[in-house]
Amino acid sequence: MAGYDPKAIEAKWQRLWADEKTWEVANPGQPGFDGSKPKSYVLEMLPYPSGEPHVGHLKCYAVGDAIAHFRRRHGFEVIHPMGYDAFGLPAENNAIKTGEPPRAATEHSIDSFRRQFREWGISIDWSRELGTHTPEYYRWTQWIFLRLLERGLAYREEAPVQWCPKDATVLANEQVVDGRCERCGTPVQQRRLEQWFFRITEYADRLLADFDLLESWPEHVVTMQRNWIGRSEGAEVTFRCAELDLDFPVFTTRPDTLFGATFFVLAPEHPELDRLIAGTPAEAEVREYVNRVARESAEERGDEDREKTGVPLGRSVVNPVNGEQIPMFVADYVLMEYGTGAIMAVPAHDSRDYEFAKAFGLPVKRVIEGSDPETARDEDGLPYPGDGPMTASGRFDGKHNREAYEEIVAWLAGEGRGESAVNYRLRDWLVSRQRYWGAPIPVVYCAQCGGEDGAPAIVPVPAEQLPVELPEIDDYAPQGRSPLAAAEDWVATECPRCGGPARRETDTMDTFVDSSWYFIRYLDPRNDAAAWDRAAADHWLPVDQYIGGVEHAILHLMYARFLTKALADLDTLTVQEPFANLFTQGMITRDGAKMSKSKGNTVSPAEYVERYGADTARTYVCFMGPPERGGDWSDEGVEGVNRFLSRLWRLCEEVGERVADELDPGASDGEARELLAKAHWAIDKVTRDFQRGFQFNTAISAVMELVNEAYRLKDGLYGDPAGVAAVRFAAATAASLIFPFAPHLAAEVWERLEGGRVWERPWPVADPELLASDTFALVVQVNGKLRDRIEAPAEAPEADLLALARASEKVQRHLDGKQTVKEIVVPGKLVNLVVR
Ligand SMILES: [Zn+2]
Ligand SMILES: [Zn+2]
Repeated sequence: MAGYDPKAIEAKWQRLWADEKTWEVANPGQPGFDGSKPKSYVLEMLPYPSGEPHVGHLKCYAVGDAIAHFRRRHGFEVIHPMGYDAFGLPAENNAIKTGEPPRAATEHSIDSFRRQFREWGISIDWSRELGTHTPEYYRWTQWIFLRLLERGLAYREEAPVQWCPKDATVLANEQVVDGRCERCGTPVQQRRLEQWFFRITEYADRLLADFDLLESWPEHVVTMQRNWIGRSEGAEVTFRCAELDLDFPVFTTRPDTLFGATFFVLAPEHPELDRLIAGTPAEAEVREYVNRVARESAEERGDEDREKTGVPLGRSVVNPVNGEQIPMFVADYVLMEYGTGAIMAVPAHDSRDYEFAKAFGLPVKRVIEGSDPETARDEDGLPYPGDGPMTASGRFDGKHNREAYEEIVAWLAGEGRGESAVNYRLRDWLVSRQRYWGAPIPVVYCAQCGGEDGAPAIVPVPAEQLPVELPEIDDYAPQGRSPLAAAEDWVATECPRCGGPARRETDTMDTFVDSSWYFIRYLDPRNDAAAWDRAAADHWLPVDQYIGGVEHAILHLMYARFLTKALADLDTLTVQEPFANLFTQGMITRDGAKMSKSKGNTVSPAEYVERYGADTARTYVCFMGPPERGGDWSDEGVEGVNRFLSRLWRLCEEVGERVADELDPGASDGEARELLAKAHWAIDKVTRDFQRGFQFNTAISAVMELVNEAYRLKDGLYGDPAGVAAVRFAAATAASLIFPFAPHLAAEVWERLEGGRVWERPWPVADPELLASDTFALVVQVNGKLRDRIEAPAEAPEADLLALARASEKVQRHLDGKQTVKEIVVPGKLVNLVVR
């Protein structure tokens, strides 16, 4: 008997899948298109090709592949493509260090990713492979840019921006984490620069409202996006500086505290600051302060516990509710990014204003009664951020602040001094980068077409002249401007509008633009007449199951939602949301620590695949814990999984050599029936584990139990052909159920025992007769109406029953687009979902 030889088995099936193009699917209208099946778009976030794939990639693609296989065997036509997010800083930084051109390094890495994905046996439709760095792809990224420009959704403007001094480029707000560059960790600086933006703020309300269109996204991802968008309702109130005839609008969520404003603060970046101090005694001190603040990180400035600093401007504004003159200050705790960059300070009811008032000896005026021991810092119980009756507030005295809220806003509006307003934390998406390795922004600057003010005109490159190809250069080092600026032959061009001399835009696009639409290009990747065929996009979208890391919660996942909506508005797509269901897989650690090259604790998937085979490596990463949570890598764990697969292999060999009867479950009894019952239990368990949020660890463990049970009973069963049939059934069932995780071994075992191809067989269905009676028929209602009956374990806790109910397609049809207002669970009986 030969032992388990993953090398031979895996090579055999990989060759067959490649030769037969097993996982390729056709588009509507193409030969081979199967319109009889429902479609399912299963997608893992595309990898950033740098060096070799790491263990996080192995987990992501192993999880996604299991889902793809499960759906195929449930009768879905599954599209499961692959590509590379190939532009970006690491390749360029490597080029600066080693001189190896970014294209060469990237292609080299792509080769390694592609080879390993094939060696892992991931069921990819390779005919749809793409790289975002190829002119065939970025031509359409540029086309999308031009369409947005046409619609006013892309624009160029001078604005305060976040600058990473190490990477010598601007960053999007989303790429600044705790005041540091998301990529290299350097504290960012504020600069004022002309940059390109996408008007994502115009979509803020839709990005919030359309969470309702999503089927299932992790709640914490939705919450992170909601907080990032940061919608708050309040009022915009105008404070006037009479001396200079200047109006200062402020946004406040607390117009009910207006009577308590005792001073007024501007952010150091406020554009009117210069006019306020020019030629005044405060000028020198204010300038010195502003310069000092410019060197502080956003993290330092945002620190709540920091001592408050600032400088009086020697000017005042009028409080519109009571006509009081209140002094003006500049202080770094006010940020230009929030609201209007100016605040009315109400020290009695805001802790930061309170501290500033104490530091500068300013009056603290209570206008709302009440106190809260959590926030109170003095004997008067101030500051007090809570609610209560109003006081010292003129005509509103005695009213509850929440009741007076609308009245105050209406009164101000009537006086022309304010109006109700909504503020967002979200800023427009800064998309230009002063770097080489990205898609060139397809515009030129033409003086001849320019306006009378002498500024050159921005002239879009016509679509038929795309792509604007990235030229080859020698020096990639950024010098505060794009390295492309030195490519004079490329920069100097002809204006497509007037034919005169023009200069190309030398900034490139943020790589997050490339990755915001790649899932559409997969649907029609070789189209050289359009970015995609509308019919193909309409057929396959949205992505039914998206899989990736939670670190993309507010970067990629929000940008892709925005771009999808913008493209739908441009009438190029029908869907409003790109990803109906999202699954975020947890991170794998080693010895409890995050893996990193610098710590030297990384796991190389190639090493484990070489040693144990891909099936072991894939099954292990799905088995090490619930996939949505992290797990700690353990070599013993890998060996354990390898032992289990070897045992399944030996069982197959043993039983394959023995003569078996045709299986007759009805006639089986004793140990044969016991083993059949275990097999059906495993079918039921694995199926349910897939359905309730991909609980792969418990699914795999059920198959292990089945194999153990077969080992326990096999010697007693080998005596007669009916018994052999039961063992054979158990082994084949184990292979069928482990196929999504260990496809090579499973295909081989199935072929030997049953003949044919396991992936062409429908997913097994448990025979209720043989299932132990520890299940019951769960009644699922929506708004009291019966929608489904589901087999559920007798002892299942409420949460499991709810998950089962929600997983039912029949039930989902009645939940679509609705909000659940109540969940009623009667254990052992029913689930009723109340929606509206
Ligand atoms: Zn950086
Ligand atoms: Zn021109």
